[in-house]
Amino acid sequence: MASTTVRAIQRALKARGHELGTSGPARDGVDGALGRDLERSLTLRAMLAELGGGAAGAPAAAPAAAAAPSRPAAGGFAFGARSLAALAGVHPDLVRVATRAIAISAVDFMVIEGVRTPARQRELYAKGRTTAQLRAAGVDGVAGRPGEAKVTWTLASNHFVKGDGFGHAIDCLPAPFDWKEAAPFDRMAAAMFAAARECRVAIRWGADWDRDGRARERGESDAPHFELWRR
Ligand SMILES: [Zn+2]
Repeated sequence: MASTTVRAIQRALKARGHELGTSGPARDGVDGALGRDLERSLTLRAMLAELGGGAAGAPAAAPAAAAAPSRPAAGGFAFGARSLAALAGVHPDLVRVATRAIAISAVDFMVIEGVRTPARQRELYAKGRTTAQLRAAGVDGVAGRPGEAKVTWTLASNHFVKGDGFGHAIDCLPAPFDWKEAAPFDRMAAAMFAAARECRVAIRWGADWDRDGRARERGESDAPHFELWRR
C-alpha cells in the first residue's frame, strides 16, 4: 500500500480520535507507515478490505478513491466518502433506509458496493468456479477462479440498474469489519429493518431470503446484502 494512502487513512483515524503516537514529521503519528498500533485499528482493517488486501472472502472493491471512514455524528454514525460514493445510482428509497440506518445503528457500517455492472457480476460469478463451469453456464469473456470462495450464485442481480434507472441493492460491512463474525451483521440488519419500517420501505436481507425473520436458516450467507423488496 502506498504511504500516501496510509497517511490519508492515518489522518482520518486522527480525526476520529484514534491515538497514533508521536512519529512522523508533525509528531502526530501520521507517518505513512503501517505500524503495529495502526494495523490493529479496526478502521484500517476496513480500509484494507476495501482496497482488496483484506479479509478473506471480501469482494474485490472498486478502486478506492476517497477512503474516508465514517465519522460519528451526534448520537450515531454517519457515512464516509466511500459509502456515499457507493450509494451513487442506488434507488432513493434504499438510500433513505441506509442513511437512516447508519444514524440509529448500534454498530458502525460501510456501504461497500451499490450499482454493479453485468461485467462485474460475471467477474464475481467466476470466483469459486472453473472456466469450464463458466462456459457451461454461458458465461464468456472471463476466466474461472476455482481457488477462491464462491460469492454469488446468480448472474442476475438487483445490483444492476433496473428499469427505473436505479440499482436496487447494496452490500454493507459492519465494524469490526470481520467477514466471519455474524453478530455485527445481525446488529446492522436490525438497524436496517428498523430504518426500513420508519421509512415505510420493504427490504430483503441476504441472510434471510424468505423474509421470515429467521437469519441463515437455509445457510444463506449474503449477510452484507440488502435489496428493495418488490412483490
Ligand atoms: Zn449484494
